[in-house]
Amino acid sequence: MAPLPPGSRIGILGGGQLGRMLALAAAPLGFRCHIFGPEARPPAAQVVEAVTIADYLDEAALGAFAGSVDVVTLEFENVPAACLEFLAQRVPVRPGARALATAQDRLVEKDFANSVGAATAPYAAVDSLDDLKGAMARIGPRAVLKTRRLGYDGKGQVMLEQASDLDQAWQALGGAASILEGYIPFDGEISVIAARALDGTIATYPPIANHHRNHILDRSVVPADLDTLQAGRAIAIATDLATALDYVGVLAVEMFVVGDELLVNEIAPRVHNSGHWSIEGAVTSQFEQHIRAICGLPLGAMALLGRVEMQNLIGDDVGRVPGLLAEPGAHVHLYGKTEVRPGRKMGHVTRVIPWNAAP
Ligand code: AMP
Repeated sequence: MAPLPPGSRIGILGGGQLGRMLALAAAPLGFRCHIFGPEARPPAAQVVEAVTIADYLDEAALGAFAGSVDVVTLEFENVPAACLEFLAQRVPVRPGARALATAQDRLVEKDFANSVGAATAPYAAVDSLDDLKGAMARIGPRAVLKTRRLGYDGKGQVMLEQASDLDQAWQALGGAASILEGYIPFDGEISVIAARALDGTIATYPPIANHHRNHILDRSVVPADLDTLQAGRAIAIATDLATALDYVGVLAVEMFVVGDELLVNEIAPRVHNSGHWSIEGAVTSQFEQHIRAICGLPLGAMALLGRVEMQNLIGDDVGRVPGLLAEPGAHVHLYGKTEVRPGRKMGHVTRVIPWNAAP
């Protein structure tokens, strides 16, 4: 339980922008980072001490990686269970295998949320076209079919309505094990980002309002416009989930707001796009907080420094960077990706409006 001393090495599974921002937050605390993942030239490689490019199931590479670091964390939740088991026998892995197994599978995730008293959309497991027909009869004609595993940014899901061709929808997901969820006509989408330390201490930011474009997060605004009671309930849901998972690190819980109700949509066992604003907008960023938690250090304060907005720069939006840099107070972050593709997250911009600013 002793905190890791400065100079210790943190292993990060995955080398995307989340790994990059984790490594950038680890440096001022005196830690060095080593990333591990299959992608050639990942964005995080530009800012870390060591990089291993290897498959997540390459035991020789994993063994050498485990031997070179003091703790392992991840910025990508779909790491195979066998990889985590192998590493966990050699070095502390935080968050642990249980949290990941829960978040990797939408059915397990929803069963778990319900088991700790957090409501979700109605859902049913779908393993065949017949299951889909049966689930649709129970849940209703407006529904979303989602693969249990590996879906993100709207990939691996199909919206269904009365007239939908179920056979075609089932084929579209390649017959993968799925769940059918009732369609939620939500008033808004929020997330709560919670940090849980090794000693069980928990802290959170206030709930964050999230706005999507083409199923991809476009803009986050914090604090979300919720009444105090509802904001408190959202925070309680996230802390209950983190405690029940015996979680260590930062976790994000995405929820739908429907009138007075809050429905858990997804649990991300990692730092989250809806928390990028915290680099400039909070006393302690989500990235620093995650590093503190996994290294056994005390958590920092999670108070906001104002009303904060984060806008993702997706695909061609990077063309706006020169103009954004000319805007005083706009904090621009680029992820070092050379190839621009539609839908690809290239960077983000954060604006902090101090509490005492004139309206
Ligand atoms: P997910 O991959 O589950 O985070 O879903 C991506 C986005 O699709 C969500 O942020 C919502 O905007 C929308 N969505 C997902 N599930 C539902 C649902 N059951 N009802 C309505 N919209 C949904």
